[in-house]
Amino acid sequence: MSFQPPKGTDDIIAPESQAWRETLRLWEELSERYGYPLVSLPIFESTELFERGVGDTSEVVTKQMYTFTDQGGRSVTLRPEGTAGVMRAYLDSGSRGAWKAAYSGPFFRYERPQAGRRRQFWQVGVEYVDVAGPVADVEVVELGYRFISDSGLSEVVLLLNSLGDPECRPAYVEALRSYLRDRRSELSADSAALIERNPLRVLDSKQDSPRLTDAPRTIDYLCAACAEHFAAVKSGLERLGIPYEEDPNLVRGLDYYTRTAFEYIATGLDAAQNAVGGGGRYDGLAETIGGRSTPGVGFALGVDRIMLALGAPERAHLDAYLVSETGPGDALEVASRLRAEGIRVDFDTEDRSVKAQFRTAGRLEVPVVLVWKGEGVPMDVQTRDDRVSLPVQEVSTWFRR
Ligand code: AMP
Repeated sequence: MSFQPPKGTDDIIAPESQAWRETLRLWEELSERYGYPLVSLPIFESTELFERGVGDTSEVVTKQMYTFTDQGGRSVTLRPEGTAGVMRAYLDSGSRGAWKAAYSGPFFRYERPQAGRRRQFWQVGVEYVDVAGPVADVEVVELGYRFISDSGLSEVVLLLNSLGDPECRPAYVEALRSYLRDRRSELSADSAALIERNPLRVLDSKQDSPRLTDAPRTIDYLCAACAEHFAAVKSGLERLGIPYEEDPNLVRGLDYYTRTAFEYIATGLDAAQNAVGGGGRYDGLAETIGGRSTPGVGFALGVDRIMLALGAPERAHLDAYLVSETGPGDALEVASRLRAEGIRVDFDTEDRSVKAQFRTAGRLEVPVVLVWKGEGVPMDVQTRDDRVSLPVQEVSTWFRR
């Protein structure tokens, strides 16, 4: 009998996992630099949180949730996205006022698996809650943009739109609905069924949206306050030198968005999964899940897709491999000393020949091989094209040279 990972899930192992580790490390560092503390939230939540928060006409809720009844008879769902849970946690925390949170972890959607579309996938994201002004939107968009470019992805396009708010959106939705009714026969069955219930979803349809380029545009229906907010977001991005393209058909797949909506597109990937991340403002979300009115803005980035777009170059996970001429007990002691000094080093814990130890070093493609010859004898420090002898206490200084 043998087992494979379930359909649409992956084992991410070395050497590929090293590129993941570096990307996730960059995320931890960058989100901290922008002042976003870590939140670690449950991987399953009450099903109703997503039905109400994400919206019961969104594809994520209607088709993609991993929902089950637990032993206590409660309906729970593996989280398909992060924002509803973060808002729930904020409301539960009793906090007041501006509140930042960064997360990183697995999410689950029942999708038809393909490259960049998995049933378990990894997202990193931030939420900036209880802030209404456009500067927050700009800060959030900039953080995502910097993360993507610092990850090494150079071909990224930022798409931007404004979806209006409860004051101006109804007129837009009516205009869109009547436009779609006139074209009902040209639409897929899924889209046609959405015309009355949630016509914005139709613009999000991969199949139909390319033919709807002359649909009414949200930005032509914005009320004065939304138009002002959108203008301020755009000028903020311009001040930071972040290029963007306005995309009047960008509506995002989840129902909670208001005003700002954005997406980061990796132009090097296939169109079906080239959105590496996206986000926006969700000023109405807190109320839909039973909380007091609380604005917020955030994004989520798909790490699987970023790794795919990067082509995940293999990177060394060690600074050096230690070969011992006097057995593994001595090697352990020397490695412990070097590790305490911050050197990433590994060695063979089995008592193998020096030749075999060198073979392992070669297989690991380490940049440096250290050879331990015994107490009081200088160590050999070998690189691809150089070799020096140094007392062990000078080795870490050599690495920092
Ligand atoms: P969304 O909020 O649905 O736009 O998701 C944000 C990002 O998460 C997307 O742009 C993708 O990069 C990633 N993502 C969403 N669903 C999946 C999936 N099934 N597999 C891999 N990545 C995904």
